[in-house]
Amino acid sequence: MMKIDVLSLFPEMFPGVFGSSILKKAAEQKAVSYQVVNFRTFADNKHQTVDDYPYGGGAGMVLKPQPIFDAVTHLKEQAESDKPRVILLCPQGKTYNQKMAEELAQEKHLIFICGHYEGYDERIREHVITDEISIGDYVLTGGELGAMVIIDSVVRLLPKVLGNEESHMRDSFSTGLLEHPHYTRPADFRGMKVPDVLISGNHRLIDEWRAKESLRRTYERRPDLLEKVELTDEQKKWLHEIESLKK
Ligand code: SAM
Repeated sequence: MMKIDVLSLFPEMFPGVFGSSILKKAAEQKAVSYQVVNFRTFADNKHQTVDDYPYGGGAGMVLKPQPIFDAVTHLKEQAESDKPRVILLCPQGKTYNQKMAEELAQEKHLIFICGHYEGYDERIREHVITDEISIGDYVLTGGELGAMVIIDSVVRLLPKVLGNEESHMRDSFSTGLLEHPHYTRPADFRGMKVPDVLISGNHRLIDEWRAKESLRRTYERRPDLLEKVELTDEQKKWLHEIESLKK
């Protein structure tokens, strides 16, 4: 079972996310366990202060090292697994992607540190963490939403968490490409028709249509992905066709 610990000053943000949908099902199946800890409870000063003014002056408050150092030590002692990944949520970290989700899904224990205010004392970065992750080039108020994004994307990859009908194997990015379009009933909705091939019952042609549409989507929306993926000879031929149709 994967163990996920979150250090946050706002633990009340998490129950809705951990208690719904696939994340809830995963905990019920014992694929994962969640623990959210308010690191304020580790502050060793009378007023349980976790932040302080920055040395050198300037705007904003900085998270002090002591509560976070001690909270992480406590979580490591509490866990049986030896080497947790300790992930600092930070807009300056490595930009998150599906490959990182797949890698984190192999781990036994993840600890997320959610920042707030102006930032962290640099010694937390230097001495406590194993990874620094950003969920995109924008600045959030705190790391909580980032932690939720990462946890959601990791937990759905754990074995047996998604049923067959929700399989992630063909999801966008898992194949290196964007996924093909989907349609459901009715076949004719107010004159807008489903492509004939999808109702043909011919699974070879349906698979081929999906594979081509996946390439087309990627070419049109995220051509950068095509530079990183190893295409088969057949896919290269289709890509040529798609490119020449666009010219
Ligand atoms: N002053 C910091 C900077 O310019 O890099 C931004 C601090 S931000 C207001 C407060 C906290 O939100 C960060 O410490 C981090 O935990 C979280 N955060 C903000 N943007 C994020 C992002 N893109 N990805 C992950 N975490 C983020």
